[in-house]
Amino acid sequence: RAKTKARGSINFFDMELDQQLRDRRALHQDLSTAIRNGELSLHYQPQARARHKMKTDHVLGFEALARWTHPIRGFVPPSDFIPLAEESGLIVEMGEWILRQACLEAASWPKDLQISVNLSPAQFMHGDLVGLVHSILLETGLAPGRLELEITEGVLIEDFDRGLSLLRRLKALGVRIAMDDFGSGYSSLTYLQAFPFDKIKIDRTFVMNLGRNTQSAAIIRAMIGLGHGLNISIVAEGVETQEQLSFLADEACDQVQGYFLGKPAPIETYAEWIGRAKPDAKNVVKIPRKVG
Ligand code: C2E
Ligand code: MG
Ligand code: MG
Ligand code: MG
Repeated sequence: RAKTKARGSINFFDMELDQQLRDRRALHQDLSTAIRNGELSLHYQPQARARHKMKTDHVLGFEALARWTHPIRGFVPPSDFIPLAEESGLIVEMGEWILRQACLEAASWPKDLQISVNLSPAQFMHGDLVGLVHSILLETGLAPGRLELEITEGVLIEDFDRGLSLLRRLKALGVRIAMDDFGSGYSSLTYLQAFPFDKIKIDRTFVMNLGRNTQSAAIIRAMIGLGHGLNISIVAEGVETQEQLSFLADEACDQVQGYFLGKPAPIETYAEWIGRAKPDAKNVVKIPRKVG
């Protein structure tokens, strides 16, 4: 568009916008082949019982977090490519890959460890999610009770009835449901009453603000009380310090997740945590990646 204008009138902002659009289109194009090209991978972040002293036998499982390594741009954060995949509908194919990959991985762990997988609204609202989860469980041999699906409340706001029916059918398969990022959006308490959640994940902004303001401590305390009253376990996200961990342990928060315990990383990083031998650098065969 800018090109057709008289030379002198090309507006910097037009060009900027144009570039952004072209950039986006290119990124979208690349995302559509990312799975096929093996650019997508999963990182795993430990979730553990909230105890003052961290020990690896307090680990209850891991959350799978998607990673995209673009051949030229390098690391693209999920906060960039997940929304892009959502808009374009690619998320359905991508979500299926993520779920299968995560269940396959978890099926090889000790039987007491769980896997949490994030679901996006598009996955929730389109296609046969229940059928997909069912067939992936059968295919991978993962016991349903070891799979937890994380959803944000945004999913439920869109279509209450469909949401409720889906959650009930997923629960009937034996999988567990967690509400992610609780407290960050509308967080209507109605949802906690109406939907069969097994877990609430307190949004990390509350944990982050512990020690910076007194409200956060009060809110976290109230959320823990709420969860316990409703028989729903409470996880605090984004635990980065010993002080935060101690506060949460004192308040009888059930579980914690955050950099203080471990960052999201390739599963080999946690080899010993899942009872596997530490990968020996000498024995790791490097397969050269195809470029282009
Ligand atoms: P989330 O599900 O709430 O995941 C937690 C995010 O917090 C992750 O960011 C994790 O790396 C980060 N985090 C964990 N502990 C700490 C901490 O102690 N400090 C700080 N500052 N951050 C911490 P990540 O991996 O960038 O993912 C961002 C979001 O993207 C996720 O939020 C989730 O909503 C979405 N996402 C990631 N992977 C997937 C996926 O496979 N499918 C879908 N649908 N969404 C995904
Ligand atoms: Mg999550
Ligand atoms: Mg979260
Ligand atoms: Mg989040």
